[in-house]
Amino acid sequence: MHQLTLAEIARGLADKKFSSEELTKTLLARIAQLDPQLNSFITLTEDLALEQARAADARRANGETGALLGAPIAHKDLFCTLGVRTSCASKMLDNFKAPYDATVVAKLAAAGAVSLGKTNMDEFAMGSANESSYYGAVKNPWNLEHVPGGSSGGSAAAVAARLLPAATGTDTGGSIRQPAALTNLTGLKPTYGRVSRWGMIAYASSLDQAGPLARTAEDCAILLQGMAGFDPQDSTSIDEPVPDFSANLNGSLQGLRIGVPAEFFSEGLDPRIAELIHNSIKELEKLGAVIKPISLPNMQHAIPAYYVIAPAEASSNLSRFDGVRFGHRCENPKDLTDLYKRSRAEGFGPEVQRRILVGAYALSAGYYDAYYLQAQKIRRLIKNDFMTAFNEVDIILGPTTPNPAWKIGAKNSDPVSAYLEDVYTITANLAGLPGLSMPAGFVDGLPVGVQLLAPYFQEGRLLNVAHQYQLHTDWHTRSPAGF
Ligand code: GLN
Repeated sequence: MHQLTLAEIARGLADKKFSSEELTKTLLARIAQLDPQLNSFITLTEDLALEQARAADARRANGETGALLGAPIAHKDLFCTLGVRTSCASKMLDNFKAPYDATVVAKLAAAGAVSLGKTNMDEFAMGSANESSYYGAVKNPWNLEHVPGGSSGGSAAAVAARLLPAATGTDTGGSIRQPAALTNLTGLKPTYGRVSRWGMIAYASSLDQAGPLARTAEDCAILLQGMAGFDPQDSTSIDEPVPDFSANLNGSLQGLRIGVPAEFFSEGLDPRIAELIHNSIKELEKLGAVIKPISLPNMQHAIPAYYVIAPAEASSNLSRFDGVRFGHRCENPKDLTDLYKRSRAEGFGPEVQRRILVGAYALSAGYYDAYYLQAQKIRRLIKNDFMTAFNEVDIILGPTTPNPAWKIGAKNSDPVSAYLEDVYTITANLAGLPGLSMPAGFVDGLPVGVQLLAPYFQEGRLLNVAHQYQLHTDWHTRSPAGF
């Protein structure tokens, strides 16, 4: 039963082949047995899951239907969940039980999804390897010595290891697409504003966006349907109609114009990955797509701009964790300043402290113009590059990451080398565009992802292209040995 996709589960439940309670019990047992190898969960909510599963079974018995009714999922541990620890993988929030559900959590629960627990992640979503978690690194099921990617690494490892069919993630600079690529999943970052950020603990508010991680585009469509939509509680949520993603997966790719930017095949790209990306281009050409070489001339400035803007917003967002209202508080403070200093020094890990320092510096008087303002100007240029490109093409295609998953610890002494791994994903966040990563093959037994980007609110186009590709390839069906 653990091999089933969300779409298959929906059919099985509708045909009464099994109940949601049976499925939930099977998956909880599998998690208990296998997750000690992976460390993909921070908190399991077995009782809540069984309660939700029984409620979903009762709703089905009453004639209700729905693709998510009774479907097991899990949430990245930065979505607030009522009465359940919401830690952001930080010592700072180790004892924090959220007093309400995030909109994403509430919407999926209302659709009947069964939440098995909260998944591990990089502390406050800062990272590309899931090594910065207070609860320890997550292991990649394809090779337990390697990282699963980050920051939604727990969600990715759990889904890749068939502990559950799908999970939520968030993507500020690639944290859905990059772990999807490194664990052989399909992951989608929606258009900024498509999914509510209410109740999602903020890293960089102008970049953060929640989305689905699953094994297929078909399943991403199902999960995204349950997550997307206008939310008056989030001032950046956009009141745009949400199409029926599942109904639009079968459009023909005949004549689809795919732009391939020269800058996506830059020096740092592993040539074996480049070859796999070219193979996937050929596959899409066979389906009728037309390839056009394009250029995104300002891409080289994306990493420096992102690593000013994201830490700047983080330093502001994380100022609320001061040891006073909630979160970690140091023992026996001498005075208020000592309370702030020690609570924050003890509660935040090294990567988070590094980002706060960089961000506070970039925003400080005298440096604001030189760093933050410049970075915002670059952001606009990058957006303009995409707008120009999308005048000529329907989607843009390239690699998701320059390298396959690296060994745990390999980049610990050099944070910048980890930042460079985000080179292909962060432009979509800077521009607010939707992006998807899907399986494209293997290098040394480790998965490789191909990335698709589309104009604003064209998540449906990405899912359609990915689904058609997956009907004609089988990379996404491969599962890691031992899981
Ligand atoms: N790796 C990037 C960072 O560390 C992106 C993380 C994310 O998308 N949450 O900021």
